[in-house]
Amino acid sequence: MVGDELSKKAQAVFLGVAIGDALGATTEFMTSHEIKAKYKVHKKIRGGGWLGVKPGQVTDDTEMSLAIAQAILAEEKWNLGAIADNFLTWMRNKPIDIGATVRKGITNYRLKGELEVPVNHWDAGNGALMRMAPVALFTLGDDHLLKRYSLEQARLTHNHPLSDAACICIGQMVHAALLGADRFQLHAMARELIAEHKTFRFNNYKGLASGYVVDTMQTVLHYFFTTASFEECLIGVVNQGGDADTTGAIAGMLCGAFYGPESLPKQWLNKLDKQVKNEIEVSSSKLIQLSPWIAKDSHIQEISGNLWDYYDQGYVVAITTNGKVSKAGRNVMVRGTAKQAAEKFPALAEALGTQISNSGNHVYDLGNRVVSFPVEHSPWEVPDLHLIVQSCRELRRLTDNNNWQKVIVPRPGCGGGGLSWREVKPLLEPHFDERFLIINAVTR
Ligand code: MN
Ligand code: MN
Repeated sequence: MVGDELSKKAQAVFLGVAIGDALGATTEFMTSHEIKAKYKVHKKIRGGGWLGVKPGQVTDDTEMSLAIAQAILAEEKWNLGAIADNFLTWMRNKPIDIGATVRKGITNYRLKGELEVPVNHWDAGNGALMRMAPVALFTLGDDHLLKRYSLEQARLTHNHPLSDAACICIGQMVHAALLGADRFQLHAMARELIAEHKTFRFNNYKGLASGYVVDTMQTVLHYFFTTASFEECLIGVVNQGGDADTTGAIAGMLCGAFYGPESLPKQWLNKLDKQVKNEIEVSSSKLIQLSPWIAKDSHIQEISGNLWDYYDQGYVVAITTNGKVSKAGRNVMVRGTAKQAAEKFPALAEALGTQISNSGNHVYDLGNRVVSFPVEHSPWEVPDLHLIVQSCRELRRLTDNNNWQKVIVPRPGCGGGGLSWREVKPLLEPHFDERFLIINAVTR
């Protein structure tokens, strides 16, 4: 993706925050019934609300995000102390709104100089989640950095496992959306969050939209996955009331990344406070230009040859697999690199068959430096592009977690599967860095 196009997308993420904030400020702390009685459907940036904002004025959600962006851009690097200082300056300047937990955290920094508040089991507010946009932009292309910086900025004021998990999940979804993930891939990421913390489940959404980070995430995810445009999602979210400016800001961030710059309604953009809009546009472009994604220019390294030569050189080998398990409990490994692997390691088909029966068609560490890389559901079906992307993400995570330095992956779905490398390569790019080698493998 060219830098210019990505800059525009980055702006859409951060402008999404401001739009959601300004739009939702009107209905913050109202119930959905009160909103309906007063506006039928609230869909104009009109100001007012309990804070009495001017039309297009933003609140703490956008202001704190800008405070983080300013700290990063001042030295073109991550400096948590500088972020804390900016928060403190912001608080001293009497912002239009400030959450109780945020105030407590910043005061803790002021009094003790500490960059992390103690774990607080009683407070899982959304105050850290609402300011994730600059972190996501600045770390695009590096999941490790995203996680580290998300938690660092979050714990200046909020130190709770549910806040932590939500920050990382939204950051990862914004990353994926910026790099072209579709809604199925984003939904899979939301399901991963739920697998870790069931409380985030958002099917049967009950309409709770409070500042509790679980309610906030459920509201954002529910509307994101049940609507089809930036505008529709944001209208849904802010008409739910509750912490509407914050759910609006977070939904705006995600929708901006997913639907892109063209999707931001002009009537909302034009209403935004001009100075805030300008600062957001300039900062977003700078943040993304500093990101690891831009710094690396080539991501995919390619060779051709025999996969197992690289195995002998110490590479971890991914073999392209399917999800089919025979009656005897063995994975069906009849083609390509899977067939080669099954011949080399006779216990492999049973090991993978057991894993698939227990936990589904995923990337698994099968021992002996061999991992599965699902590309299709059965050997008689065409490869599934969604599955390939899921496998990329899982392999990347497994590699990170095991600290593997050399991993080789056959062109997925391109051998017997029949996909063209030109169509598959862009799917791999967001996930694989210099540790990965893609091989056009000889499989006869
Ligand atoms: Mn606010
Ligand atoms: Mn709020």
